[in-house]
Amino acid sequence: MPLDAHALLTARAAQLNADLAEAPAARIVETALRNAALGEIAMVSSFGADSVVLLHLVAQVSPDTPVLFLETGMLFAETLAYQQEVAEALGLTDVRVIQPDPADTFLHDAEGVLHQTDTDTCCAIRKVKPLELALQGFDGWITGRKRIHGGDRADLKMFEVDGNHLKVNPLAAWTGTDLSAYMDAHDLPRHPLVAKGFSSIGCAPCTTSTLPGEDPRAGRWRASEKTECGIHFDGARIWPANAVKS
Ligand code: SF4
Repeated sequence: MPLDAHALLTARAAQLNADLAEAPAARIVETALRNAALGEIAMVSSFGADSVVLLHLVAQVSPDTPVLFLETGMLFAETLAYQQEVAEALGLTDVRVIQPDPADTFLHDAEGVLHQTDTDTCCAIRKVKPLELALQGFDGWITGRKRIHGGDRADLKMFEVDGNHLKVNPLAAWTGTDLSAYMDAHDLPRHPLVAKGFSSIGCAPCTTSTLPGEDPRAGRWRASEKTECGIHFDGARIWPANAVKS
């Protein structure tokens, strides 16, 4: 991205944060989807434990918003069924199922066990690269990240710049209580694994349930240093071009 364009995008994100830092999530979503100056914006959703909140907010503004769903090939069967259920319930008309390049999985993970030895490369071919390619046609994306997730997310802003994309986090300030109250108020369907103790839901081999009081993401890559899959690294992608077919 040319330096001037990146500087312009950074300035735009700073202005949006200044103008909308205290704005409700619905206003943030509306701005992202209706402000033509921001270009083409997609939503990225895992259809996980609390994804239905942001999906509902987006559906209220534009149910034809492109929703990118990363189907890594390793998701729980419950997530695949829930994705269909939620899309139908909310009237989402443009859910795009994003899958890994079969050549990458054949070359690097033909047996589907790479997650046991190299989670970074597994995430790179199953999540990071497919999403990066899917986002090429967009100027920005809406995510469900929240400050309550802690770590790098503790001081999350509503608007960020990630490489050459604007990244929008309408739920940055939301708490678990806010999410539950919203789901109750709008009678939204719950991911079936939440009732089984899963508070954050990713790929089946890398997700466990959590105990009451644990960090909501404690069940992701449990007993590992890994805390993020790599799709949120501010443009600094972790997949090496010479290691993964491009
Ligand atoms: S979360 Fe686990 S199974 Fe899913 S892509 Fe990453 S390492 Fe592979």
